Amino acid sequence: MPGPIEKLRNIGIVAHIDAGKTTTTERILYYTGAIHRMGNVDDGNTETDFDEEEAKRGITIYSAAVTCKWKDCTINLIDTPGHVDFTAEVQRSLRVLDGAVVIFSAVEGVEAQSETVWRQADEYKTPRMCFINKMDRIGANFENVLEQIRKRLHGNPLPLFLPIGAEHDFEGIIDLVKNKALYFDPDSQGQSIEEKEIPEELQEMAAEYRQKLIETVAERDEAAMEEYFENGDLPEETIHRLIREATLTGELQPTFTGSSLDYIGVQPILDGVNRYLPSPLDIPPVKGINPNPKRNESTELVRHAKNDEPLAALIFKIVADKHADLCFVRVYSGVLKSGSRLLNPRTGKKEFCSQIWHIQADSREKVETDLVEAGDICGIIGPKAVATGDTLCPQQHPILLESIIFPETVISMA
Ligand code: GDP
Repeated sequence: MPGPIEKLRNIGIVAHIDAGKTTTTERILYYTGAIHRMGNVDDGNTETDFDEEEAKRGITIYSAAVTCKWKDCTINLIDTPGHVDFTAEVQRSLRVLDGAVVIFSAVEGVEAQSETVWRQADEYKTPRMCFINKMDRIGANFENVLEQIRKRLHGNPLPLFLPIGAEHDFEGIIDLVKNKALYFDPDSQGQSIEEKEIPEELQEMAAEYRQKLIETVAERDEAAMEEYFENGDLPEETIHRLIREATLTGELQPTFTGSSLDYIGVQPILDGVNRYLPSPLDIPPVKGINPNPKRNESTELVRHAKNDEPLAALIFKIVADKHADLCFVRVYSGVLKSGSRLLNPRTGKKEFCSQIWHIQADSREKVETDLVEAGDICGIIGPKAVATGDTLCPQQHPILLESIIFPETVISMA
């Protein structure tokens, strides 16, 4: 049992190659306790780059789904490839994500691949957060990247954190909601975080950013605006709620910063995923077609993310494994049970779901209950005549999930 559905997050980390997606993912898995040793991308031994060939090339090809826990949330991290040639795969994973974290390098800023992915996320209305990484590198410029996100991506990044220093002098981050400076101890691999007053020389700038932040999010809520005018401030919880609402509607993108290599700023991303990104209940119910409607029956079907609805599951990735093919599915509605016979409405054939796994990167951990609930993602073994994009559903309640078009052609980068 992954816990209540409102605490479930299906998210992806997307980035242009080299922006630091693998490093950040690795830190996330480490902080959430899914792994107990740190890999290093430069040694090719990180947890998500589990294919040997891929590790050699230093490119994340496989969209593996990894499950981890952060505080009271269960996070399914759907890995998306960063290489420019794998755009179709990015698209496939975006289709099953509820939210995304887009990583930018503070040096290179918005790059071709970030533009493509951003546009696709716009198309799918995927709520997202931004992480401006590599603040420790020569040439890092936080403001520049914010400007590029606005100009080139037409995004609306809302800084929730500011860097303290840059390049060799990058020391920590300012939490604008908390109004505190955070310093991460590299010797503890960032586990220990010291909270201090904001350095004097940055107080004015932080105050300006904080005021802008509150005004931006309070604008959409009359009661909050009134409270803000009266008290000159808002309680942290109100600010978080307003940020969440504006993130879910796509009005803005909460923006974080740090250096994942130096362990700075990764836990705030996890708190952000928890606080601001959607659960499966926050996205519209999935639509589909009844493949063989009886007379007077509508061909259009809607399935809500509820356990008591008929099962509708989508295969979004098939990974050839040593022993058997592993189909990654998103359960949009109903409950998927191991040992069940399901219909593939595209072929009209029945498929057997013999085993269900929740994946922990290269070590696959079996789901104890042998069932996966509405909203969740898992790997299944058993289906034979299936392809990416196929629906699995009960024989009595057939549904073909809608508009799942997975073009194999790579989108031009012009
Ligand atoms: P990906 O291609 O987006 O998955 O990027 P990687 O995580 O593989 O990182 C690409 C390179 O940048 C590696 O050599 C990392 O060690 C390095 N890197 C990642 N994050 C940071 C960072 O915050 N600061 C610095 N200086 N280097 C980083």
